[in-house]
Amino acid sequence: MTDIAERPSIDQAMWSERLVETAAPAIQAEITRALPSGEELLMQVRADMEVEGQFRTRWLAVSDSRVLVYAPDDGVINSVDLAEITLVRNDPLVGGGRLEVECRQAPTVVVAYSSTMSEKFSEVARGLEQMRQGQPLAINTQLERIRCDRCHRLLPEKDGICPACIHKWSTLKRISCYIAPYKWKAVALAVASVITTGAELVPPLITMRIVDDVFLGYFASKKSPADLEHSVQLLGFLVLVLVGMRIVSWGAEWAHGWIVAWLGAQATADIRSELYKRLEMLSLQFYDERKVGALMSRVTRDTGRLQEFLVDGLPYLIINGLMMLGILGFLVWMSRQLTLYILVPVPFLLIWGVVFWQRMRRFFRRWGETWSNLTDRTAETLTGMRVVKAFSQEGREMHTFGMLNRKITEIGVRTSVNRTVFFATISFLTGFGVLIVWFFGGQEVIAGRISLGTLLAFYSYMWMVYGPLEWFGQVNSWMTRAFAGAERVFEVIDTDPESYDDAKAISIPQIQGRVRFQGVTFGYDKSKPVLKDIDLEVQPGEMIGIVGRSGVGKTTTINLIARFYDADHGTIEIDGVDIRQLNLRDLRRQIGIVLQEPILFSGTIGENIGYGKPGARFEEIVVAARLANAHNFIVAKPDGYETQVGEMGSWLSGGERQRVAIARAMLHNPKILILDEATSSVDVETEQQIQQAIGRMVEGRTTFAISHRLSTLRDADRLVILDGGKIVEVGTHADLMMRRGVFYDLVQLQEEASRIIAIAD
Ligand code: ADP
Ligand code: MG
Repeated sequence: MTDIAERPSIDQAMWSERLVETAAPAIQAEITRALPSGEELLMQVRADMEVEGQFRTRWLAVSDSRVLVYAPDDGVINSVDLAEITLVRNDPLVGGGRLEVECRQAPTVVVAYSSTMSEKFSEVARGLEQMRQGQPLAINTQLERIRCDRCHRLLPEKDGICPACIHKWSTLKRISCYIAPYKWKAVALAVASVITTGAELVPPLITMRIVDDVFLGYFASKKSPADLEHSVQLLGFLVLVLVGMRIVSWGAEWAHGWIVAWLGAQATADIRSELYKRLEMLSLQFYDERKVGALMSRVTRDTGRLQEFLVDGLPYLIINGLMMLGILGFLVWMSRQLTLYILVPVPFLLIWGVVFWQRMRRFFRRWGETWSNLTDRTAETLTGMRVVKAFSQEGREMHTFGMLNRKITEIGVRTSVNRTVFFATISFLTGFGVLIVWFFGGQEVIAGRISLGTLLAFYSYMWMVYGPLEWFGQVNSWMTRAFAGAERVFEVIDTDPESYDDAKAISIPQIQGRVRFQGVTFGYDKSKPVLKDIDLEVQPGEMIGIVGRSGVGKTTTINLIARFYDADHGTIEIDGVDIRQLNLRDLRRQIGIVLQEPILFSGTIGENIGYGKPGARFEEIVVAARLANAHNFIVAKPDGYETQVGEMGSWLSGGERQRVAIARAMLHNPKILILDEATSSVDVETEQQIQQAIGRMVEGRTTFAISHRLSTLRDADRLVILDGGKIVEVGTHADLMMRRGVFYDLVQLQEEASRIIAIAD
């Protein structure tokens, strides 16, 4: 398996002829010995259960001709010849599953695993089946990773980054790159930090002078009026220096805070905007593989943590680090022996800090998990309130919420209690430092080896050393969190975007609309093709109806035309140019898509119609709306074109949304029009209006229309019937009805269904 640092980017091939997990060298040697010599390992995976249900490691290894199961304690448990196998079965069960390989003579091979491994074993089962049938192995090896490959810890999100395994140093270097454009501010920051530190270090020294020179000096003198005057003058001067230091420190802190806030905010804004830009440019494939919620949290939470780190964390670390060094230097200079005394509690503080924060990490994780459970659950039920009420399940939801809420409270209380214990122990330990200094330092003073002022200065410095130490135990966990966030952000930034600005791409500002599929094969998962070897040539202006059962690949076909995905084999040409060579912006600009469930964005109706053509004039928008049969309903609303559509267009009815979407596509004025079930989710009357609008729109454009109401495709020039991933029939509606093939059957089926519904009504 791969290393985090060199994990393949998502566009690299995900399928392969091999799925081999690394085993410990000793185990690997035994497995290799048990395989026929000279054969290669094709699959080797770890299972984590015994057939009886206890957790225990088992290894399943498959070579060219042999399947074996190895148990670290018992050696090879099963070993069968591939030719022996009669059946491969993978049964998902509650909390896990089992893979069973039935053989002609030998007993059935059974491997049990927990649910985190289900996906892996379903691929293994598929691979075994392929091998049994003598096919080359083609399985998906880029499985969803739930645990870290390297340290086997649970990952915070599926396929996520393991916080324990990131290279902190290289991440830090990369984060600093975002500061680089603001070098002078960073230099100013460093200067301000040094001044702030310096200003903090001076006052104890002055105190020392006040005690030693002013007070003790005066007491030791003859106490004449001249001595008095001298002492008071010195006191005034030293206090003035203190005032000066305060002012300097105030100014430096002020500047420091200002620069830090500015730099941190600016750098994270840069990162955030780079991230968002990349998210917009990534292919749909990227989105297929991730959850929107997880991506959202990268834009908001992870960049937020990074900002926290840059604004609060890093400067705090630097200042306190500098200060520690400065103070230690001073202390050693004043008295080496006392310095050693001060350092006595330090190892205890450090050990306690590390131990404690390790412990707290568990709490924090549980706390985080429970929180996200609660928020996910709440978001889901609030969105689905209609369903909750319809089934009158309010009580149940309240109960679930109450349970989670109690759990959070409980963890929260325990966390707080722990925290209190932590700080109490810290002050207990540092208290010892104080006692040591008084006792031993006091003796030094009495013996006259150090002055009283020195002891008092020591006392102040000591607190400056202990203060930051309280936090140093926490630095690691807290840096880890910030860096893991940064890595999640960088992962997105590093993914290859769609190639909008490929200089080599051919630009066709005005396409004709000739579309040609040549031997196109495509699957979302390459080992399970949805479309197989599709050939189709479409003339400019032609209207093609795509027909087939649900899930046959109709939407997939048009996804390929819009180049949301690239074909695995074969080519798709537009006006004779392979779409992979065509400028992507040109291509998308000339394709208009109307979907079954059109998506509108919050804003007004007018803004939504103009979405694809920024700066469209109002008259243009009205013309488009008229053509889409939308104008009438729009002006009937009190705010007309200024009407707000709500989130995702939810304040409009389905039919209204659909017509706004059609108007939007009209204004976009595409040469290739794609209608994916555009009339499926509206009532009959609206459907007629939409059909009429579509009728107007189709003229002079190459159109691909998908509709499961076959009657609506009567006007198509040709119908293409898909079945089992292939084109099985092509022809006009009338042709195909005469031929009495697949299409005819589908029509019959649908008419029968509508008759039954009519009777039932
Ligand atoms: P339809 O003909 O109903 O439009 P689709 O083209 O949407 O069918 O889907 C064809 C097949 O591809 C289905 O089996 C579907 O489950 C699968 N599929 C569709 N979209 C995705 C996706 N984004 N990721 C993985 N599989 C998909
Ligand atoms: Mg579809």
